[in-house]
Amino acid sequence: MHEFALAKALKQTITSKYNDHSKFIVYIGQIQNIELEVFKAALSEEVHDLNISLIFQEVPAKIRCNICGYEFLYNSLGLSDDQQEDIHFLPEAIYVYVKCPKCKSNDFEVVEGRGIFIAPYN
Ligand SMILES: [Zn+2]
Repeated sequence: MHEFALAKALKQTITSKYNDHSKFIVYIGQIQNIELEVFKAALSEEVHDLNISLIFQEVPAKIRCNICGYEFLYNSLGLSDDQQEDIHFLPEAIYVYVKCPKCKSNDFEVVEGRGIFIAPYN
């Protein structure tokens, strides 16, 4: 399961890059295909011997149209639960369900709220 691989990768980032920090914030993009509870449990397990604390924060997905430049929030689109579930499991499905509200293009980029990031938190 890739939740565990991700947790390992984050631990490596912490130990190799940020070993002088003890508090971290983990940004979790709204659009990603991980099981959040599984990931949190895996990460807590990975880092429990490091004596650090973690804060989790969800990052709302923001989309920018490549044609007209309009920016909009994923939350504002009124997608059904089924559509959101499809996008959760296959983020690329967003191009099937989402169009720019202004120009109706599906040529857009998710500019925020994808993937997982970690940063020291003071
Ligand atoms: Zn547009």
